[in-house]
Amino acid sequence: MNSKRSFHSLGVTLILIAALAGGAAAQQAAAKPLPHIVILATGGTIAGVQPKEGDPGYKSGSLSIETLIQAAPGMDKMARLTGEQIASIGSQDMNDAVWIKLANRINELLATPDVDGIVITHGTDTLEETGYFLDLVVNSDKPVVLVGSMRPATSTSPDGPLNLYNGVAVAADPAAKGLGTLVVANDDLHAARYIQKTNTTDVQTFISPNRGAIGEAYYGKNRYFSYSTQRHNTKSEFSLDGLTALPRVDIVYAHENVDGALVDAAVAAGAKGIVLAGVGDGNATKTMVDALAAAAKKGVVVVRSSRVGSGIVRRNIELNDDALGFVAAMDLNPQKARVLLRFALTKTTDIKQIQKYFEEY
Ligand code: ASP
Repeated sequence: MNSKRSFHSLGVTLILIAALAGGAAAQQAAAKPLPHIVILATGGTIAGVQPKEGDPGYKSGSLSIETLIQAAPGMDKMARLTGEQIASIGSQDMNDAVWIKLANRINELLATPDVDGIVITHGTDTLEETGYFLDLVVNSDKPVVLVGSMRPATSTSPDGPLNLYNGVAVAADPAAKGLGTLVVANDDLHAARYIQKTNTTDVQTFISPNRGAIGEAYYGKNRYFSYSTQRHNTKSEFSLDGLTALPRVDIVYAHENVDGALVDAAVAAGAKGIVLAGVGDGNATKTMVDALAAAAKKGVVVVRSSRVGSGIVRRNIELNDDALGFVAAMDLNPQKARVLLRFALTKTTDIKQIQKYFEEY
């Protein structure tokens, strides 16, 4: 479903009434219309409903975008809002079809002078992957902001409405331009490139382990104190243009006594790339490393990342990447390394070039 509905803008109405009354300040405000922000809804807990009051169990993606907007009063004073429902899924079900639909719609909207920014409501489970994907393929420096929630909309104390309110405030803020895809959560402002979900249920789940938050988004007041230094948006050479599908890349998880069975299974399933969620600095048992080296020899691109949750996996530290034919993921966690590898593979299988991508993006 891709229903498109416009919402009555109380802000514009108030400004018009005041301007008619003849106040100088109001006339100034009327001359400068509110920014137009489009909210694209995909589902998630922010749109979740509990079948039984007081029971923590719920179903993601149950409420429409109109209901979410109504639950966060005051947003119409910051922006002229339009809502569209892109999908209604828990983000554990996020897939390429929804990604491509979402990114194409964002590119279409941001290419028009009428749209100033985008807010996306999204489940928190795969929000970091969607955000990083958008960094690679959205061809605009206008603000794109992801918001979710940890508590469903019907809970005793939902966190979604304020996240949405703060997200609209950031998307409407010219200072948010050029910062890459942003995530607003629990009053914090993060670059999607750096963020990671770190807690299964706590409201304070999002952190940016290697860099920290890039700012604050607090009841419509934004402060910026850092930014993503990686290539993104108009500086990204990746795009969806001409792509009908993205290459298959699988993630294999290392642990005590792990063998090469999952690596072999990924190759047999047709993976063009494999990301290792390695122990420590992107490592694994000799058996698993041998299986990965054999896959690399067959032309499957192997990227070493880590299951640790923070830090940088660099080349040639404990493993000899040059000899094994591997790429080091740098500070991308396995799920984000997978996103970049899929786009890298749309361009090349050259290990040196792919390593360069992991240093730049
Ligand atoms: N499973 C949910 C989702 O990602 C969790 C959430 O939104 O917090 O859609």
